[in-house]
Amino acid sequence: MLSPYQGEGDDIAVHVQWLFGCDGFHSAVRQKLGVAFPGSSLHVEPHAVDVELTHWPYATNVNVFMDRDGGCLAVQIGPNQLRLVTTTLAQKEAFLRDLPVTRVTWDSTFDVHFHVAAHYGHDHVWLAGDAVHVHSPVGGRGMNMGILDAVALAQSVQSGHLADYATQRHQAATQWVQVNRRISVIALDDAASSRRARRLLTLALPVLGKVMGARLAHTAFSRLSASCLTLVS
Ligand SMILES: Cc1cc2nc3c(=O)[nH]c(=O)nc-3n(C[C@H](O)[C@H](O)[C@H](O)COP(=O)(O)OP(=O)(O)OC[C@H]3O[C@@H](n4cnc5c(N)ncnc54)[C@H](O)[C@@H]3O)c2cc1C
Repeated sequence: MLSPYQGEGDDIAVHVQWLFGCDGFHSAVRQKLGVAFPGSSLHVEPHAVDVELTHWPYATNVNVFMDRDGGCLAVQIGPNQLRLVTTTLAQKEAFLRDLPVTRVTWDSTFDVHFHVAAHYGHDHVWLAGDAVHVHSPVGGRGMNMGILDAVALAQSVQSGHLADYATQRHQAATQWVQVNRRISVIALDDAASSRRARRLLTLALPVLGKVMGARLAHTAFSRLSASCLTLVS
């Protein structure tokens, strides 16, 4: 039941049976509930850019690169469209110089945070998505985790077992954010230990790639992304 609009600048009172706070990292619903959102951040500001190309330049549609400065991801998002995520500006500029770019359609930077909410709500007010978990784009799971929250929440509302929703999804988020943080520190952070780890990886990966071929990439990606549903369910 919607109350009468009270005038410009006033809050609008809305009476609802359920409230699902899917309102992102700065969730007002989470803050109103007083739910803690503990976590940490990396001191890096990676770049994300979408471009249109004259043709697709790689053999595969997901490509990961790594150098001393950090990881880069080049993903196909359309026939001749590419999303590029780089750790540094220099890497972004180098890719854009080398790629057959016709148009830049999106160019942005983002912060890297790792947070999981202390709990997911109570009674008839529940949280989902980035409102309760944020992590780096490494693994490409942020949105997917939120979709799985929404499915689990809908099932729990139907079954009446809301506590199960909170327990299962909190556990899934905690597990993944821990893994994502470890990988992200190696892939993106500018600490000396991360640079050393990347140096080792750039030496080891070509050798492993020769030995294991496409199986290496397949295993790594299915662990990171495709197995999302089994890891978090
Ligand atoms: C560079 C980058 C690449 C990514 N790549 C991937 C990927 O490949 N795969 C993947 O799964 N995820 C990816 N993600 C993560 C993904 O974008 C997020 O996890 C996802 O968008 C979160 O969805 P959400 O609906 O929970 O929150 P949001 O997308 O933040 O949406 C929250 C919505 O709530 C609204 N809102 C906020 N406050 C209020 C309010 N007070 N009243 C009303 N409305 C409000 C906002 O306007 C917004 O529309 C990536 C993220 C980044 C930064």
